[in-house]
Amino acid sequence: MTARILVVDDVPANVKLLEARLVAEYFDVLTAGDGQAALAICEKTPVDLVLLDIMMPGMDGFAVCERLKANSRTAHIPVVMITALDQPSDRVRGLKAGADDFLTKPVNDLQLMSRVKSLVRLKNVSDELRLRAQTAHTIGLQELTRPDRPDEPGNILLVDGRASSQERLTRALKPIADVAVISDPQAALFEAAESSFDLVIVNANFDDYDPLRLCSQLRSLERTRFIPILLVTEQGKDEMIVRALELGVTDYIMRPVDPNELVARSLTQIRRKHCNDRLRASVQQMIELAVTDDLTGLHNRRYLENHLKLLVDRATARGRPLSICITDIDRFKRVNDTFGHDAGDEVLREFANRIRATVRGADLACRFGGEEFVVVMPDTTPEMAAIVAERLRLAVESRGFDIPQAAAVLSVTASFGIASLRPEGDTAEALLKRADMALYQAKNGGRNRVVAAAA
Ligand code: GH3
Ligand code: MG
Ligand code: MG
Repeated sequence: MTARILVVDDVPANVKLLEARLVAEYFDVLTAGDGQAALAICEKTPVDLVLLDIMMPGMDGFAVCERLKANSRTAHIPVVMITALDQPSDRVRGLKAGADDFLTKPVNDLQLMSRVKSLVRLKNVSDELRLRAQTAHTIGLQELTRPDRPDEPGNILLVDGRASSQERLTRALKPIADVAVISDPQAALFEAAESSFDLVIVNANFDDYDPLRLCSQLRSLERTRFIPILLVTEQGKDEMIVRALELGVTDYIMRPVDPNELVARSLTQIRRKHCNDRLRASVQQMIELAVTDDLTGLHNRRYLENHLKLLVDRATARGRPLSICITDIDRFKRVNDTFGHDAGDEVLREFANRIRATVRGADLACRFGGEEFVVVMPDTTPEMAAIVAERLRLAVESRGFDIPQAAAVLSVTASFGIASLRPEGDTAEALLKRADMALYQAKNGGRNRVVAAAA
């Protein structure tokens, strides 16, 4: 893993020390001696992580962090504050300023590396999502990606083996989240997979159960792998923390737990979860847009061409039948010419609706272009495909199209070409081509009919 890390400290010796350790791990290191210089670098250069001293003359670390987080161009860069004193009040102030974590001077090597690596890993994930969401943004999905949403309440699952700490932690978290408490770690795993939590807090205080087992299981289950995990541990359990971070635990907090720090860390994780959820949803929506035809809501040609290949491969491998049907509306140009383009569009929508209503759920209906549509029918023999195509033809012909834009009920017909997969050596292109030739024959033969390609 390579990343560019900015080290900010007013004492040159401290800068040198951190720089040497990070360079030894092959990180790309930039340095700054004061807050202004740090902000300038972050504005100009892509930085993956900032290690930020708190006590600096002029602008202190809190102020630098606040400025970074307030600027939309730098808000996503993780910030680790380096505190001289192990002061809970400093930590809380830093978290309020938007810091993602803390290290205490003198900086422990293991903690430095595991912290840096885990934050860089998290940033890589959200960078990827941000990039994809940016494309979504440019094609009109602003609402989903807007970063300035107010905080939504969080759902926390607290896994804790002791009644006394359960009670204390729940009380601290109450103002910011709904907290579900569970004592049995295995039951917790099921609970986390069943419900949708924004954060799992694992208190490492079980009598004879390794809390890291739960953390690793949470990371490997499909349903829970994106839920942040906050581990509560004993002071001096460095080895365990390092292993936890390597396993993908998102954050940790030491006992005795300061309620303010717990709240601040939990809020940070809940916010990040909500933000990533939104990004993921917008990416999903973008994918759907990219493979959907705007006018009819059917899949588009790009999707068909990709997916038909997979369906053909699968049918060939399993020796199963597969048929396709291409249909083209008859004399559609006349609709446009007589009633206008909007009326034509409405005919296309209604035509798509009738196809959708007529085919099975397993069939794939697509708008192939213009007034041409394709239905892919897995597990369908030529005989069955002929029956389906005839049913489609009737679904179009038997009832007039009520088109408000034309102020008329139009008689519409379509022609159909069907083709079926050959058991050996057939391809998606060849199959489409045979269906297209059959369609051409249907048009030549007088339209409003079904023609099957020779087997
Ligand atoms: P044929 O029976 O031989 O298929 O005749 P046709 O008139 O349907 O075929 P032709 O290919 O000559 O014309 C198709 C028309 O479909 C021309 C084009 O303007 C129109 N068309 C293509 N896409 C759209 C669309 O999205 N909306 C509308 N309203 N018209 C479209
Ligand atoms: Mg046509
Ligand atoms: Mg045409």
